[in-house]
Amino acid sequence: MKPDNYFRQAAFLTSAARLSQCPPDEGYEVAFAGRSNAGKSSAINVICDHRGLAKTSKTPGRTQLLNFFELDEQRRLVDLPGYGYAKVSVSIKKDWQGNLATYLDKRQCLRGLILMMDCRHPLKDFDLQMLDWSAHIGLPVHVLLTKADKLKKGPASASLQKVKSALKERDGEFSVQLFSSLKKTGIAEAHQKLNQWLEGG
Ligand code: GDP
Repeated sequence: MKPDNYFRQAAFLTSAARLSQCPPDEGYEVAFAGRSNAGKSSAINVICDHRGLAKTSKTPGRTQLLNFFELDEQRRLVDLPGYGYAKVSVSIKKDWQGNLATYLDKRQCLRGLILMMDCRHPLKDFDLQMLDWSAHIGLPVHVLLTKADKLKKGPASASLQKVKSALKERDGEFSVQLFSSLKKTGIAEAHQKLNQWLEGG
């Protein structure tokens, strides 16, 4: 399958609340994470050119789960639970975070993490925790600075530089780009990174 084509083939595969419910740990996986409202569902939909794809993760009861999308037999994208649902109790939050950390740490086929941050408010606590945890377990991270259409060129590139510098100061395999689901900008660059990981590079 040609890399450019398999994103369009994305189809919902299954949901998992814990590692034991995930599909077999084979092939290649890339996971998507972000604070709620960072633009994760929109980014997944635009990257796969498939409008309704990631809506499953907004279905009540599914927000706490890892949602798997199959690209082909060997490749999957994984929508991780959005962080910041105020209504859940602290103990439930801890439980998810435990499951999330276990997934990120133990999943052999996981090649990289796409971390969404609103370009107007990057590097919040959750983002820094994800970066530090990923560096700790040796997982590469590619940051999408989302909703880039909300900023003019100057402030957008200032945000990019700010995040670039912050990433350089930390250990870990990190990269970053601007992205807009609304204007469909940054898709080719995101595809390139995804292809690199999904092709085993
Ligand atoms: P999620 O909670 O991270 O999955 O975020 P969503 O993808 O549901 O997006 C949250 C809100 O931001 C929605 O109202 C989207 O329409 C909006 N949004 C997402 N991406 C963009 C974008 O690229 N530009 C603009 N202007 N709004 C966006």
